[in-house]
Parts: sequence; C-alpha cells; structure tokens
Amino acid sequence: MIRVLVDENGIFFEDAVKIASKVFAFTNHTVLQEALERWSEDLMQEVSPRCFEIIEEIDKKLVEELKERGFSDAQIDPYRIMTNGTVHMANLAIYVGFSVNGVAEIHSQILKDDTFKEWYRISPEKFNNKTNGITPRRWLVYSNRELTNFITEKLGTDTWKNNLDQLKGLEKYLDDEKVLEELWNIKQKKKKQLAKYILENEGIKVDPTSIFDIQIKRIHEYKRQHLNILHIIHLYHQLKKNPDMDFTPTTFIFGGKAAPGYFRAKGMIKLANEVARVVNNDPDVNKKLKVIFVQNYRVTYAEKLFPAADVSEQISTAGKEASGTGNMKFMLNGALTLGTLDGANVEIFAEAGEENNYRFGATVEELAEIANSYNPFEYYSKDENIKDVVDSLVSGEFNDNGSYYFLDIYNELIKPQDGNRGDQYYLLKDFESYRQTHERLNKEYRNKLEWSRKCLKNIANAGFFSSDRTIVNYADDIWKID
Ligand SMILES: *Cc1c(COP(=O)(O)O)cnc(C)c1O
Repeated sequence: MIRVLVDENGIFFEDAVKIASKVFAFTNHTVLQEALERWSEDLMQEVSPRCFEIIEEIDKKLVEELKERGFSDAQIDPYRIMTNGTVHMANLAIYVGFSVNGVAEIHSQILKDDTFKEWYRISPEKFNNKTNGITPRRWLVYSNRELTNFITEKLGTDTWKNNLDQLKGLEKYLDDEKVLEELWNIKQKKKKQLAKYILENEGIKVDPTSIFDIQIKRIHEYKRQHLNILHIIHLYHQLKKNPDMDFTPTTFIFGGKAAPGYFRAKGMIKLANEVARVVNNDPDVNKKLKVIFVQNYRVTYAEKLFPAADVSEQISTAGKEASGTGNMKFMLNGALTLGTLDGANVEIFAEAGEENNYRFGATVEELAEIANSYNPFEYYSKDENIKDVVDSLVSGEFNDNGSYYFLDIYNELIKPQDGNRGDQYYLLKDFESYRQTHERLNKEYRNKLEWSRKCLKNIANAGFFSSDRTIVNYADDIWKID
C-alpha cells in the first residue's frame, strides 16, 4: 500500500506511512517460532525489488526513532525489521500497524510477556485481545439438529441462534433429572449416528454406549496426539494384564492431517493407526478399548464428530495453542474438556467451571520455571508406566515397517539431540497428571446424571464463544465501525 501511495499517487513516503499506520492492524495467530514469517532479503529483492526498498526505508525510520529515544544498537536489535539477511514480518507489522492482538486471553498475555515483549515496552497501547469464536449456525444448528430442537424447546424461543448468551437460560434445568436424561439421550443418538458413519467409512464397528473420547485437529507435536496415543498404550497394557480391571469401555477417536514435509507428524499418524490395528484386533481387550483414526478429517467429517463427543481432548503443551476453536465446538455440543491451561481452554474452564471439566498438566509458569533444568530421562527412569509405554515404541510391539518413524519419536522423547534437551513438548512431565485425570473421568462417566449435568453446564456457558461476539469486539475496538 505504501508503494502504491508513493509511486502511483505521488504521496510523500512519510505521509504514506502515516496513512498505512491508520489502516493496518495485526492479529497474531501463533507463537511457534517456525510460523513467524522471516523472509530472506535476497528472495524478496528478487521477487519484489521496490517493496524491498520501501521496507529498507521503514527499517531506517524505525532505527532513527529508537536512536533518538536513546536506544543503543544492542537495544535496537530485537526491533529490527531487516537484520542478518532476513525481513522480520512481525516486526514490520507491529511497527507500522496501530493494533496488535492475540486470539485468547492467555495468548495475548504471552505476546506481551514473551513473544513481543520489547514492543510491549515501547507501545503498550497497541496491544489487545480478541478471543476467537465459532459460528453457532454451522457448529450447532446445522450439525446437531437434535440438540438445537432441545434448546429451542427448553428456552421457548429460537432467538438464541443469533444471541448465544441466551443459552445461560438452560441453567434452570441443572437439577431437572428428566431434562438431564433427555440431554443424555440426545448425545446417545448422535453417537449412534457417528458409529454408523464410522462403520461405513472406516469399516470398524464401535460401541455407541462406550465413552467417545475424541482428538481431532491438525497433527503437530505441540498438540501432543502422541501423549494421547502413549496413554492408550498404557491402558492397553493394563487391560492385557488385568482384563477385569474396573474400566468404562472407551472409544478413542483421532482425526487430522499432517503437513507433507513434517516427518514426525506423519510418524504420529502411523503410530495412532498401528496402535489402533493392534488394539482393535486383540480379543482380550477390544470389547472395552477401541481406537479409530478417521480418514480425510475435514469440516464435513467434523460436523459429524463434534456432536458425538463425550470427551474433548485439548492437550497441547501449556503456552503453545494460541486459542483453539475445536475446543469451543465440543463445548457447544455438550462434550467435557480434558485439557491443559492453554489457549481458550482457560476461558472455557472459567466460563463453565473447572469442576465441570477435566483440567490437567503443568501451567505456562511451571514450565517456564523448569525450562532449563527439565530432564525427561529422569521421568522415564523413575516412572514405570512411562518407561513401559516409551519402550513399546521400539520393542517391536508396534510395527512401522522399518521406517524409523517410531524410533524418531522415541529419540525425541528421551534422547537429547543437537542442542535440544529432548521432549521439547513435555509429554513425560504431563503423563502422570494426564493418566490420573483420565482415570477419574473414566469412573465419573458412570454417574449419568452428574455427567449430563456437567454437559448442560458447559452448553449453557458456551455463549461467550460465539464468533458473533468476536466480530463485534473487532468492529468496536479495532475496525471502529459504529
Ligand atoms: C475447528 C477445526 C479445526 C481447528 O481445530 P483445533 O482443535 O482448534 O486445532 C481444524 N480442522 C477442522 C476441520 C475444524 O473444523
């Protein structure tokens, strides 16, 4: 835009930057370093030489301003748009833009405390939060007609579809056993529909009365699908040793795609499918434990999965998931969140009550404290359960056809590699907390009324997560539309 204003409209560079800085607002969507764009100067110069020149001018202006404020070269360094042969797009966006926002409270706080802390020091007024939302028309009205009709009947109106805060009115039924049973039966119906779809599409029969425990999202180490898989291996080994173990039958469902060049993510898919093959074909356990990895996970499949979930797996390493929106789709459809204090999970726990969900694992602060002393090998050697499941990656129990996929995951968890201390995403740190929380959940599911009451409490408090609210927040505070 600055190029168009200067080159094609004869506007002075200084004035063009002023106009641009009234136009552009930056929404950050992730704090993963590898996702913050850094473009090579050489490439940019070749592809867009004039934009490159203009960015050089903007960088020069930034450096001059900071020098005038008495910053030393070293102090200016973290702000540089151009440095070491790369263009830092985030620095460019923050400097020129008038607003910087994250997409959940904890994420926006991390931007201020960590990712962009230098910018927050000199431009605190730019920083704000806009918690993500989801559209209730697709993720409830369209995908779950049974629950939609139930809500409309209980509230006596359908105006909640455009004013989701009205769901709060459902709280008057929290102690109405008939209504709680009705809600339970709707979930059962959606689970039966999904079971039929899974039989048709994946060729696997699942028990619709079992707990449907679902993790559907892009495959990534920070999302920790492999923590879920390791825990399933643990359950499998427990059930093998003791088939009469006190255990509510559970169907673990995965879905998601890996980026084509992300080797370890493909290994996680391979592992989930291989554990599924072994568990589902073992007559000692397959009445109580089933594992499904659905093919071609996408919105149309998602619309069938969210309404059928009892448990929503939101188990990212604390501080890594900017917001998440799958977590909100599950909540709106009456699934309970099994999750870390990360992204919008924090706000889900706050809105619906931690006591109506299953929080586990280390917090951002706890992980920051051990960042330089964490030794995953200690967890591996001292915790028999952890040793058992980690060893199973390389014992031959699960077969990766000599691909080294499973050895790669094993090495990442317990072998320090090239300056990386191992277990970058703290799976072993959180394993015992995750195991215990699963164990409690598994028992509490048997109290249908109590479980259903928690489901209703979550649905009734999902109003905040409507994207209608999010969009109004952007319009009011950033776009300034009246
Ligand atoms: C909502 C949605 C996502 C995002 O899920 P997260 O759990 O928030 O990562 C990804 N893919 C599909 C198909 C979705 O519907």
